[in-house]
Amino acid sequence: MVHALVSRRVVTPEGEREIAVLIEDERIVALKPVAELSPDVAREDLGNVALLPGLIDVHTHINEPGRTEWEGFATGTRAAAAGGFTSIVDMPLNCLPETTDIKALEDKREAARGKCTIDYALWGGAVDGNQGEIEPLALAGVPGFKCFLIYPGCDGFTSIDRENLELTLPHIARTGLPLLVHAELAAPIDSAAAKLNASGADWHRYATYLASRPDEAELQAISMLLDLCRRYRFRLHIVHLSTAQALPMLAAAKAEGLRVTVETCPHYLHCAAEEIADGATLFKCAPPIRSAANREALWQALVEGTIDLIATDHSPCPPAMKRLEALEPGQEAGRFDEAWGGIASLSTALPVLWTECVKRNISLSKLSQWTSGAPAELAGIAMQVGSIQPGKHANLIAFDTDAFATVTPERLHYRHPISPYMGERLRGVVRSTWLRGERVFHDGTFPGTPRGREYALSCSLS
Ligand SMILES: [Zn+2]
Repeated sequence: MVHALVSRRVVTPEGEREIAVLIEDERIVALKPVAELSPDVAREDLGNVALLPGLIDVHTHINEPGRTEWEGFATGTRAAAAGGFTSIVDMPLNCLPETTDIKALEDKREAARGKCTIDYALWGGAVDGNQGEIEPLALAGVPGFKCFLIYPGCDGFTSIDRENLELTLPHIARTGLPLLVHAELAAPIDSAAAKLNASGADWHRYATYLASRPDEAELQAISMLLDLCRRYRFRLHIVHLSTAQALPMLAAAKAEGLRVTVETCPHYLHCAAEEIADGATLFKCAPPIRSAANREALWQALVEGTIDLIATDHSPCPPAMKRLEALEPGQEAGRFDEAWGGIASLSTALPVLWTECVKRNISLSKLSQWTSGAPAELAGIAMQVGSIQPGKHANLIAFDTDAFATVTPERLHYRHPISPYMGERLRGVVRSTWLRGERVFHDGTFPGTPRGREYALSCSLS
C-alpha cells in the first residue's frame, strides 16, 4: 500500500522543497507536488516540520559482544533512532572478540541479530599481523577497515606500526574499501606527557590533558598517511579530525587527486577547550577538543569541502570509568589521565549540530549532506540510503527545526545516560524516525519490535 509523508520542507539533494514523499513497502517510490497527490493515498502532513533522510553514523562503538555493560546493540540502536539515525557502522574494537577475523565477525553478527532498532554494518579491524584476514573480511561483507597508529585504550586491538601498515596496505588496496585511521602518533604524545609529569602538572585541569595530546601528534600521523596513500593508492579516511592545522595538508592531498576523505565530530564543532571546566572528564576524548578558533576553522573546512562528513564517535563506558567520583580510598575524582576517553552522542548529535548551523547560517540541506549523503558514500551504501530519492530505502526523520529541548537523562537512551551536554538547551527536536517505511521512534517511544538488519555488502577484489 502506498502512503505519503508531506512536508513544506522535504530535504532533497536539490534543496528544501514542499512535496509529498510516496512510500511503498520499504522504499521511496516517488516525489510529487502535493497538489498532484491522489485523494485516496493515505498521508501524514508534517506541516513545517522538516523531513530529512535518516542520519548515518559511520563511527559508533557498540561494544557488544564482550563489553555489553558499556553499551550494546539494543540500547545503542534505540539511542540512535531517537537521535534521528537510521544506520550505524560499528567499530571493530572495545568489543570482545575484536572484529579482526571472520570468526569474530560472525560472533558480532550473532550478537546483533534481532536486537537492533535500525540498520547497521560492521567495520573490520586492521591490526598488527592480520593482513591475511583483510580480503576474507572484505568478501564477508565489511564495508572497510579501521586501524590505530597509537594505543587504542583497550588491550586486544593492537595499534599498527608503519612496517606492519605497509604489509597491510596492498591488501586494503585490492579490496577497494576504505581504511579508516585513528591518526595520532605516539611520540609527540609521550614526550608531551613526560614533560607535563616532570613539571608536576595538575591532571584535574583540562589544559593539562589538551597539552598532553598536541596537534603535532595528528599532523605527523596525517603526513605519514598521505605519503602511504600516494604510494599504495588505497582509499584513506581520517576519522575524528580534531586539529585544524592539518587542513591545508588535507586540502592539498585532495587537490592532488589522492583518495582521501575526512570526518570530524559534533563535540569538536560545538565545544571549546576554553570552556571545559577542570575535572569535567565527560569531555575527555582523543584527539582532544581544542580551542574555539580551531572549532571555527573546522566549520570553515566543512563548508569548503576539505572535511567531508560528520560522525559521532559515540564511545560510551560505565560512569565509574569517567572518574566523576572517587570510588575507592586513595583514588582522586576528575583526573583526565585516569578517565576513559569517549563521548556518547548518538541521541544528541543532530540538535548539537543544528544549534551550531543556525548560528552560522548553514542550511539543513548542507548538514544533511555531511550526516547522510557523504557517510553513505564512505560505507558503500549510497545506492540504498543517504538521500530522499525514488528507489532508496524510506529511511526518514521528522525534525522540528524551531523547537528547543534541554538535554535530560530521559532524552538519552544509552545504557548509561551520561553526557557532557546534560542540561544544555539545544535547537531542533527529532519527532519521528522511520526505518524502511515503518516508524521506529516517535516522541520518546519506540513502536514495533526491533527489525534492523545488517546491510548485505559485496566486494570484488582487484
Ligand atoms: Zn572511535
